[in-house]
Amino acid sequence: MFILESKAQLEKAIAKAMKTHTQVKFISFGTYAVKGTKGNFYTVICERSERGEKVVKCGCKGAEKGLVCWHSAAALSLHIGIARQRQTATK
Ligand SMILES: [Zn+2]
Repeated sequence: MFILESKAQLEKAIAKAMKTHTQVKFISFGTYAVKGTKGNFYTVICERSERGEKVVKCGCKGAEKGLVCWHSAAALSLHIGIARQRQTATK
């Protein structure tokens, strides 16, 4: 799990996600399944903490250690897009 503070944190992870051409499945708003390199799926959860921090959780080993993994980056790019659409829809 890590706290997203800036986009710069994600740069490397996004580059990896792009290279991997992974598949991201939408489960519900804030919950996604990202296909790993071995064909397994990792669940990534994007949520807001009580303090308003953007918290990202992934089921892989890297994220367990607090690393920004590429699964999270892949899920976040979808999540951010959906969140933006929702915002414009309610305006
Ligand atoms: Zn991960």
